[in-house]
Amino acid sequence: MTTYLIRNAQILGGAPQDIHVVDGVFAAIGEDLDVQADIDIDAHGLIALPGLVDLHTHLREPGREDAETVLTGTRAAAMGGYTAVHAMANTFPVADSAGVVEQVWRLGRESGYCDVQPVGAVTVGLEGKQLAELGAMHDSAAGVRVFSDDGKCVDDAVIMRRALEYVKAFDGVVAQHAQEPRLTAGAQMNEGLVSGELGLGGWPAVAEESIIARDVLLAAHVGSRVHICHLSTAGSVEIVRWAKSKGWDVTAEVTPHHLLLTDELVRSYDPVYKVNPPLRTAEDVEALRRALADGTIDAVATDHAPHPAEDKDCEWAVAAMGMVGLETALSVVQQTMVDTGLLNWEGVADRMSHRPARIGRLAGHGRPISVGEPANLVLFDPAYRGVVNPDTFATRSRNSPYRGMDLPGRVHATFLRGEATVLAGELVER
Ligand SMILES: [Zn+2]
Repeated sequence: MTTYLIRNAQILGGAPQDIHVVDGVFAAIGEDLDVQADIDIDAHGLIALPGLVDLHTHLREPGREDAETVLTGTRAAAMGGYTAVHAMANTFPVADSAGVVEQVWRLGRESGYCDVQPVGAVTVGLEGKQLAELGAMHDSAAGVRVFSDDGKCVDDAVIMRRALEYVKAFDGVVAQHAQEPRLTAGAQMNEGLVSGELGLGGWPAVAEESIIARDVLLAAHVGSRVHICHLSTAGSVEIVRWAKSKGWDVTAEVTPHHLLLTDELVRSYDPVYKVNPPLRTAEDVEALRRALADGTIDAVATDHAPHPAEDKDCEWAVAAMGMVGLETALSVVQQTMVDTGLLNWEGVADRMSHRPARIGRLAGHGRPISVGEPANLVLFDPAYRGVVNPDTFATRSRNSPYRGMDLPGRVHATFLRGEATVLAGELVER
């Protein structure tokens, strides 16, 4: 294996130190290390963070390889500083059996760019009627511990209760896409002032909050773990804060786009801003930032949702929902959380690596940057300034809401178990 000597990196934003990477692990860390390596990297001014972990990625394979494949999605992940992503189950076929989750897991291993941890469906075919083979998926080579019908809500309270009871046996977690389906029938955007003015069907905050309230109560009742996907409203934050104050095993994530963008953008009718849950108000954005800062929200998760041009370059009403996000997540977090003084780099490492790995019970990721630990690492340049151009992205899709925006920071290098996947801002061909 290639050995690396990274000079003067600021680990979690601290004083510059050298990092020696040998045989997949951090072999030595300190000032002015007197060691040799195959490749020397000048990391002056770069922040070193543990490899990022995403709890919520749509890789689209199998079934929608025109939007993304495991290979293109993991290349995008590496460019974003990720060393592990959880692949959502809403593929074709649905990842609701040991066979499909093992296929996705193997494709990830073969890509070599980023570990892929498949998420198993909660119900057969994401239809919400019958529990999928949760135990078989857990016992498979993929070792699934996170289950979600994401894209759809597990809206039947009895099915949700059974799923929560079932995953207790192997310390699994149910990740809920909280959306009361009847309250959101025909919804096109956030229900509020803007939807009223535009005459678009509204997706009310209460449709998210009522499911979260129900599910934290269910999790407490059966003594199990629930994780709330893509929190998007101030009210949702209050419910999660209350559930945590009770000592219940509840965790939550927020997407980068819900930390930055608001429903005012929908006035453009540009479907690049169409997403589920929808972009909310400035007050919601502020509440989400504060909740991520104080730890009420545990993790940033991208909800990277690639779509081919024909599904996005069309009328608002018929456009697909979702945005790509792997390659811009860290920059958006720098702008919204670090540059605003809400979170330091240690906090970023916690919300984007340590805690998501712990929620997914993912071994070998989200570990500290210490001697003997697996060398999963990102070197990030916070001083970089550039205009986002999705045409240069590694993802197969181009539906980024940040096109043309100035976002701070850039991933300089990513290491997966001691091998560089990105160097000098470019993918390393493997
Ligand atoms: Zn979702």
